[in-house]
Amino acid sequence: MTAIGVFALQGNVREHLAMLTEVGVDAVPVRRPAELARVDALVLPGGESTTMDKLARSFELFEPLQKRIADGMPVFGTCAGMIMLADEITGGISGQETLGGLDVTVRRNAFGRQVDSFEADLEFAAFDTPYHAVFIRAPWVERVGQDVEVLSTVRSGPAAGRIVAVRHDRLLATSFHPEMTGDARLHGYFAELVRGL
Ligand code: GLN
Repeated sequence: MTAIGVFALQGNVREHLAMLTEVGVDAVPVRRPAELARVDALVLPGGESTTMDKLARSFELFEPLQKRIADGMPVFGTCAGMIMLADEITGGISGQETLGGLDVTVRRNAFGRQVDSFEADLEFAAFDTPYHAVFIRAPWVERVGQDVEVLSTVRSGPAAGRIVAVRHDRLLATSFHPEMTGDARLHGYFAELVRGL
């Protein structure tokens, strides 16, 4: 069976494992390099990217993760996980680094204090009906590289037009938390991507 790991040092781990199980893959928490080596793909959950960066280093996962990404492992980064996947970030703290791999610039905490957390219905070409998305101190994508596909943008309000879901080949990233609403379509989309390789 396809095994998809969830980076489990920090963030919304249990919820992602449940959604992955729902879409029929073997869902595995990843805390050590040996666990990373056993999975076909990985979810980087929401949480706090500065903490994830530090913990990935102290648990000696940072370099193995970068190597797997460079070798083509599919990764789904959500919220802080999107930040971790970005080649470039703005609004990071001093010394903050990302794993990189995704040719985008992501702004941390982009939606500002007024709307630190909010919900919105998003359109995805792959889905027949809107996807209800929960944003928590969320980033947005400010620049996309040539080969990066924009999957969804905010439709209305002060942040209308902001990019909140992207894909480049095997890397998928959302500004919001797809594990929190019980809608497994994005996990299903990712699982299909992994199974199709
Ligand atoms: N603001 C957080 C960060 O910079 C991300 C928030 C989240 O994952 N919900 O890591």
